[in-house]
Amino acid sequence: MSVSPLSRRSVLAAPLLVAAAGAAAPAAVAAPGRPGAPVPEVLGQSPVDVRRSAVRRGRALPPLQVHYRRDVPVSLAYVTRDAGSPDGCSTRDVEETEQAGVRPGDGWVVVGGRRYDLLQTHFHTPSEHTVDGRHAPMEQHLVHSDADGNLLVLAVLLVEGPAGEADRLLSVLPDECVDPVTVEHVDLRAMLPEQLGAVRYSGSLTTDPYTEGVRWFVLEPRTVSAEGVARFRTVFPDGDAREVQPLGRRELVADPSASRWLRRL
Ligand SMILES: [Zn+2]
Repeated sequence: MSVSPLSRRSVLAAPLLVAAAGAAAPAAVAAPGRPGAPVPEVLGQSPVDVRRSAVRRGRALPPLQVHYRRDVPVSLAYVTRDAGSPDGCSTRDVEETEQAGVRPGDGWVVVGGRRYDLLQTHFHTPSEHTVDGRHAPMEQHLVHSDADGNLLVLAVLLVEGPAGEADRLLSVLPDECVDPVTVEHVDLRAMLPEQLGAVRYSGSLTTDPYTEGVRWFVLEPRTVSAEGVARFRTVFPDGDAREVQPLGRRELVADPSASRWLRRL
């Protein structure tokens, strides 16, 4: 499938974000995490609300350089968190997702001279990050690690509109407890916006073990088809997103080029 170009018009026309209390935010999403999971200390956790009035314009930030291949196979699998439970193959855990594994060397980013390799990408519904309290229908995370195990995540809010590269994965979505599916000819770069201006902050994994010290880059939203969103919600009818965590003393710092899309939301 070819990639639908993301025109500015399509972004402007798309119903970008919905109120957190609206129908698009399933009630179960409010659960702080997996029942029984240890509650982390609330210090530097993710996701957070991107309150636009609190975003500071960064100066001389090290640029985010992306090196993603444009025609690669990925291995798409349902990530289960309750394999030991008798009905684990049918129970939807809020921390489960559909995840595409990426081969070593097929994607990496460089920030401040440090290389982070792309490990996998996965999805949440509704979005985990909010903007002024509003969710997008979905959010895609692209998880990277440097050689020392330090993590960096690119977050892309997904809004309904023309089909995008994420639809390549959302059209497959293997069931829980079945073998992964190889999806060929995936354009990793097309999963990101053309302009890489981001809102940056220091946070955590949004699932157990909630490891902190993760570098987060929230990028300009991209579009996916309404069918793709609906398909993912069929798998996760109660959602698979963690609720937003207190920002505390942390700062949200934006690249100057992020101000255009931030204003539009
Ligand atoms: Zn995630």
